[in-house]
Amino acid sequence: MTVDLTPWRDPKRVRQLADQITRLTTKPWHLMEVCGGQTHAIVRHGLDQLLPDRVHLIHGPGCPVCVTPIDIIEQAQQLARRPNTVLVSFGDMLRVPGARESLLDIRATGGAIRTVYSPIDVLALADADPDCDFVFFGVGFETTAPLTALLVQEAARRDLRNLWLLSAHVLVPPALRFLVASGLSRLDAFLLAGHVCAVTGWQDYAALAQELSMPMVVTGFEPVDILQGVEVAIAMLERGDIGIYNAYGRAVTETGNANAWRVVETIFEPCDRSWRGIGPIPDSGLGLRLAYERFDARQLLTACDVSVVEDSVCRSGEVLQGVIKPVECPAFGTACRPDRPLGAPMVSSEGACAAYYQYQKRTPSTPA
Ligand code: SF4
Repeated sequence: MTVDLTPWRDPKRVRQLADQITRLTTKPWHLMEVCGGQTHAIVRHGLDQLLPDRVHLIHGPGCPVCVTPIDIIEQAQQLARRPNTVLVSFGDMLRVPGARESLLDIRATGGAIRTVYSPIDVLALADADPDCDFVFFGVGFETTAPLTALLVQEAARRDLRNLWLLSAHVLVPPALRFLVASGLSRLDAFLLAGHVCAVTGWQDYAALAQELSMPMVVTGFEPVDILQGVEVAIAMLERGDIGIYNAYGRAVTETGNANAWRVVETIFEPCDRSWRGIGPIPDSGLGLRLAYERFDARQLLTACDVSVVEDSVCRSGEVLQGVIKPVECPAFGTACRPDRPLGAPMVSSEGACAAYYQYQKRTPSTPA
């Protein structure tokens, strides 16, 4: 089914919403858009520049590739070098720098790495070559977790012994709690990612909004969607309202996709997880439940605790927590560019640094 997005890209409506937000705003407000896809839309369409100076859009950590911890990337690299093993992941992961090299470097020197659009594609690969181990490097938020869970569920049903999972899946709500508790950035409201809420529903965020005493608005990805979300959030802030508002009704319901989430809860359970550049966040990861532990690819590793040090030049942790904008990183557009990235936010399709480089804020010295 094709959805006509023309109404959500209407320049006249965009201008009306920007004017309405200007009229509504009487104080400075700081809104964090959680999702990297929304960050790209904001920067690409220059939406931040249409807003009054008192409305600050803070870019959040919702780029799954960017927050995948360097120790798990090193584990993936170790698996890619393992004999008779194929590491399978999404294309975005390949160029992400590890401690010394990327998966792309490893593939260039003989590592067996394949990319897929859907985790389910790994079933056919494993079925076709039973003598080879296939490891799916699962990365993403609540949006992609259901398909990874389905992969494991189906592998168990078929009793596949050569299919494994390296899980780097993460959850949004623990990260929101962490960001507010850290106090590193002023955050008055969250714009929640519509595709995450399409899976989980918005009901759990209603309780979280009360817990964190702030407005949260479920928002889509087109210019009108985003500005509608900003308008609702500003109106709630100006009134002193706390709670959840679903401004993405065409895709998100209160309960979401219950069937998809049920599979996630069958296969996974929350676990502590470190976020790259940020650090450990309790209960923010998805690890395999005991009944599915036999699929855990870490059993194939010779050294599971890979101790690595982050590049001290890259300030991705501050970018991901909204403390600085990408252009405030001294390496932006000079030492760090998409063709020679120092950090994941410069290579991921949802990375804030890539968005600024691509659409808006190139430094004058940076070639096009
Ligand atoms: S511009 Fe590059 S070095 Fe700076 S924070 Fe972004 S990814 Fe890291």
